[in-house]
Parts: sequence; C-alpha cells; structure tokens
Amino acid sequence: MGIPLTQALSIGTYVLGQHLRGRKRYPLVLMLEPLFRCNLACAGCGKIDYPEKILNQRLSVDDALGAIDECGAPVVVLAGGEPLLHKELPEIVTGALAKWPDDLAVAVEGEELTDPSEEDVRRWVLESDAA
Ligand code: SF4
Repeated sequence: MGIPLTQALSIGTYVLGQHLRGRKRYPLVLMLEPLFRCNLACAGCGKIDYPEKILNQRLSVDDALGAIDECGAPVVVLAGGEPLLHKELPEIVTGALAKWPDDLAVAVEGEELTDPSEEDVRRWVLESDAA
C-alpha cells in the first residue's frame, strides 16, 4: 500500500527540516500506548501479563497529547493493549488530528486503521467491550 501524497510531503518536509538543523537522530514514528489492557489474549503477548494495577491504568488525555507534542514525530500510531478500551480515545484522537491531520493511525487488535475520524473512533469506543 502506497503512502498518500500529503503524508509523503509532510514527512519529507519534516525530515528535510531535521537535516537542515544538522540533526542526525530524530523521531519519525511515535507508537503511543495509552493503556496495556486488551480484550484479546494472544499467545506470547507480554502486555496482558501485567498485574491488574498496571492493566487498570490509563494515560490521561493531557499526558497523551503532551507526549505527542514532546516527541514531535510526524507519524503517530495509537496502539495498546486495545486502544478502543480507553474511554477518552476520541479526545486523544481529536487532539492528535488537530496537529497531524494526515499522519495518525489507530492500531486495533493488530489491524491499523489509518486516517480515523473522530466520529469513527467515538463509535468504535462505544461499540467495543469498554472496560
Ligand atoms: S491484540 Fe496485541 S495487546 Fe492484545 S493480546 Fe494480542 S498482542 Fe497482546
């Protein structure tokens, strides 16, 4: 699957900017995991083996958006655990879309959904087996 032109342009612009600043190392993709809990139990998954105390933790909207800002990577993937179990995922997606309208993906049970709309995410969260 090819990369849409708008994504290629924004990533290319970011990479060029890093080179012009003389940076040899910089983030390109942020894999943000707002929770570890999942509604599946894949063999060998290290995340679902964490204690309940860890599995019940959720990254706040402010912390998630702060991490996205701090990292500055031009591509953001919201993964987990199962991100749809995070009840504030629509707010995180809305905030991320405001900054990266073309370069956001949500990884849902091993599948990557690119260019999600806020409405899609809100519906998915409501339809999921929310914790
Ligand atoms: S979908 Fe991912 S997080 Fe969930 S159990 Fe499988 S490997 Fe672990």
